[in-house]
Amino acid sequence: MRAFVVGRFQPFHNGHLHVIKEILSDYSSVIIGIGSAQYSHTMENPFTAGERHLMISNSLESAGIFNFYIIPIEDVNSNPLWVAHVESLTPKFQSIYSNNPLVRRLFKEKGYDVQAVKLANRDEWSGTKIRKKILNGEPWEDQVPPAVSNIIMEVDGVNRIRELAEVDD
Ligand code: NAP
Repeated sequence: MRAFVVGRFQPFHNGHLHVIKEILSDYSSVIIGIGSAQYSHTMENPFTAGERHLMISNSLESAGIFNFYIIPIEDVNSNPLWVAHVESLTPKFQSIYSNNPLVRRLFKEKGYDVQAVKLANRDEWSGTKIRKKILNGEPWEDQVPPAVSNIIMEVDGVNRIRELAEVDD
């Protein structure tokens, strides 16, 4: 049995890793959809789909996890068509994990088994909070797997976020 989980993973952090491990305790493999794949270089979505793909695959492989498929998924400008768009890109799956009310509703209407994501240590493991810490020069490295901090350093991600903030100002 395969499950599907979708997020923007900006960046992939320890909370996401925890959720994927939990899902894999019930399913033989997991499909990880990288949502809003077309976006990068904005404050909300600083990292490209390719960078996010590498963050997830390197983190999971470092944790000894290999039963996953990563699929970048661009948004489409019609919500009723989005589930069909996801299905056209992914292997078949039986259950979908999300807390996003729109995502849950769209999959429920297509007859999927929709499960809630059990969030852990939300005070620290949050994409929004990690991006803010990077911007403010606060320690953030402990909130992400080592593979992710390595990739953020490799792509000059700290300066990218700081320079994007100047554009936003
Ligand atoms: P999101 O904006 O990435 O996440 C929403 C919230 O859920 C965030 O607080 C996020 O925390 C948390 N979260 C998501 N996945 C998680 C996980 N595996 N573990 C822990 N926390 C998690 O949105 P999303 O609901 O996850 O992703 C939905 C994607 O589907 C988006 O890219 C959206 O654009 C796309 N979508 C597209 C259409 C369309 O094209 N018409 C329609 C519906 C949805 P963090 O910030 O810490 O990750």
